[in-house]
Amino acid sequence: MPESSHPPDDRPDQEHAPSSAAGQSLGRLIVISGPSGAGKSTVVRALIEQCDLPLELSVSATTRPPRPGEVDGRHYHFVSDQEFQRLRDADEFIEFKEVFGLGHHYGTLRQQVATGLKSGKWVILEIDVQGALAVFENPRWNPISLFIHPGNMDELEHRLRQRGTEDEAKLTARLETAAKEMRYIGRYDYEIINNSVDHTVAEICQILRDLKES
Ligand code: 5GP
Repeated sequence: MPESSHPPDDRPDQEHAPSSAAGQSLGRLIVISGPSGAGKSTVVRALIEQCDLPLELSVSATTRPPRPGEVDGRHYHFVSDQEFQRLRDADEFIEFKEVFGLGHHYGTLRQQVATGLKSGKWVILEIDVQGALAVFENPRWNPISLFIHPGNMDELEHRLRQRGTEDEAKLTARLETAAKEMRYIGRYDYEIINNSVDHTVAEICQILRDLKES
């Protein structure tokens, strides 16, 4: 499990997840985790396009270099180590993970989440298990949480190899992390097995619609 931490959260009430003075529901926070290679990013993008709810992806900051096709500000805010440290020290993250060894850091930007929730958006955090646990621990967020995975580790390895973005050492590290992450499925509200993007998107959208009605 990569090391992860989060700053103590003592920010004032305006970030509280969400209800207006009239008792009207404002935004909701949605946490989606799952092993790398489970198709999370594809599912999340399709969900935002296809589901008839005001969904918005929180774009994290990362020190990882962009993969081919990734766009700064859309997939991540790609930042230097120094900028990441500055954001962390300024308490700009609601959670972050710093991976020592492999070296890439990721963090959820407080401002993005707060702005989205205040404007009634259902803000999606696509984050790892440690980050999710940090969010679960803070009663202010009260997120809807989903764990997406491909069913079994063989399928996961197959998908990661097909994706071809990692060398062998990184692939092995991601598989080991995945095996550890799978142990935390029980901490999430919903377990989603992603065999087909269309089916998974429909399933998650229905879950969210039902929660909106309830
Ligand atoms: P990737 O490098 O494949 O884009 O992401 C690696 C892992 O980092 C994924 O599990 C992804 O969900 C997670 N991740 C992305 N952004 C964040 C973040 O802001 N916080 C945390 N804790 N994990 C993140």
